[in-house]
Amino acid sequence: VTEPGWVDVEHYLTDVVVRPDPAHKRALTSAVEADMPAIEVAPNAGKLLRMLVQMSGARRVLEVGTLAGFSSIWMAQGLPDDGRIVTCEFLQKHADVARANVDAAGVGHKVDIRVGAALDTLPTLVGQESFDFVFIDADKENDSNYLDWAIRLGHPGTVIVVDNVIWDGAILEPERDEVNAPGIVAMLEKMGQDPRLDATAIQTVGSKGWDGFAIARVR
Ligand code: SAM
Repeated sequence: VTEPGWVDVEHYLTDVVVRPDPAHKRALTSAVEADMPAIEVAPNAGKLLRMLVQMSGARRVLEVGTLAGFSSIWMAQGLPDDGRIVTCEFLQKHADVARANVDAAGVGHKVDIRVGAALDTLPTLVGQESFDFVFIDADKENDSNYLDWAIRLGHPGTVIVVDNVIWDGAILEPERDEVNAPGIVAMLEKMGQDPRLDATAIQTVGSKGWDGFAIARVR
């Protein structure tokens, strides 16, 4: 199977099954207009996040890596009206675009965007109500640190999803990417070995190439 085939199938599934609404499309368009990289989750993955938030009954979501707010919108839509998502973003420009997008999507009251390095923001969340669902999708070299924080800020039953865990297969050839691949591998090994977690990982193909996500549940 060649990549154009995967992309065609993804577009078909997006049109027929996923059915994004105008708010999702606006977020994608705004990111292109603002010259931001197209590294958001694919629509079918965004909808999976929304459904996982709903199915887990989450009320408090933590996201690491906001970009233009595409995944934030999907997850916020899965929360009850008094639910909250705290999303960490390094760049002010990305946070500004995301703010406009979550507001336009009608979920702005559920979304708290914290600007700065996530490893500086996460310690400020200690002592607040714990998180029921965590989505990790930022600088991959820190994946393992973010996993530690997700456990610390979560509780038994918290669901943790980590994006981009295959990285075009570079996890088996880390020398192809000396920044991201070792970070992903360290996270995967921790996820598999940490007795506090139950975990699996899934490969995907489509508009984002060959990649995948890992999902864990805090025991
Ligand atoms: N989750 C988003 C979505 O699917 O719509 C995509 C997030 S994008 C892959 C990664 C984002 O993480 C970028 O906007 C980047 O600026 C941000 N980022 C990178 N390093 C970061 C850090 N140390 N702390 C917080 N955010 C960071």
